Amino acid sequence: MGSFSLLSAAARRLEGKVALITGGSSGIGESTARLFSKHGAKVVIADIQDELGHSVCEDLNPQSTSFVHCDVTKETDVENAVNHAVSKYGKLDIMYNNAGIAGVAKPNILDNTKAEFEQVVSVNLVGAFLGTKHAARVMIPAKKGSIINTASVCSTIGGVATHGYTSSKHGLVGLMRNTAVELGQFGIRVNCVSPYVVATPLAKDFLKQDDDGLYRVYSNLKGVVPQPEDIAEAALYLGSDESKYVSGHNIVIDGGFTIVNTGFCMFAQS
Ligand code: NAD
Repeated sequence: MGSFSLLSAAARRLEGKVALITGGSSGIGESTARLFSKHGAKVVIADIQDELGHSVCEDLNPQSTSFVHCDVTKETDVENAVNHAVSKYGKLDIMYNNAGIAGVAKPNILDNTKAEFEQVVSVNLVGAFLGTKHAARVMIPAKKGSIINTASVCSTIGGVATHGYTSSKHGLVGLMRNTAVELGQFGIRVNCVSPYVVATPLAKDFLKQDDDGLYRVYSNLKGVVPQPEDIAEAALYLGSDESKYVSGHNIVIDGGFTIVNTGFCMFAQS
């Protein structure tokens, strides 16, 4: 039980809460499953990578962590994952719509097929819509809940990823804002976390590895190599009661990448 909580009860920020994390078998989702578990949450990992997901649960506390096979593009799978969380642990406090794909890397729109575009939108945006819908189904009667989505810096700027990916992440922020407005009356908060590049299986194909094994990318903030845990920490905040008055936000975690216009910047950067 590698990451099982050794934090004191007072330090556990999600004690008594139940969380469902899509895309929790790998990368940011896995890291969040580990952090949520460390902070006392019961965690359901919902993913299409069954073997990996089961091994994460085994490594955590099998009593309080479970895996459910779920393709977020299929409504019955998402419905079933939410029902699984409720029947196993009694409720759902945190829904983390995190599953995502980068899609086929073709920058030129003339090379992009409709099917490739739709596939990315289907996982990244429709998947989050289904997750939000079914989480709301059980959170509305409970009159509370926190829904978190992993968007991206591509939700705020263009030119960093494919058309499908950028469209899906901009759309995700729109979905988050609309549902935050609707669901606020039921005490349900909805937010996004938006990472810049983090070296997960999704992103490694687009990154160069330095001699020390680290993947570095341009960012305004020097001296920090972003890790999945940095995103998990933001999800922890949004899932916990510390953020009880925070809704409708897109928390960008990018070391200042999206606030700099490198074409015209008066501060010299190497
Ligand atoms: P990852 O590939 O490590 O994890 C993604 C997970 O989603 C995998 O476990 C995968 O099996 C799962 N998944 C894919 N399609 C699915 C489907 N149809 N149904 C259910 N699960 C599915 O990558 P990651 O970087 O951890 O990605 C997590 C999220 O972070 C994604 O939404 C991604 O767009 C976003 N993001 C990542 C980066 C980055 O640089 N890594 C930057 C910005 C945003």
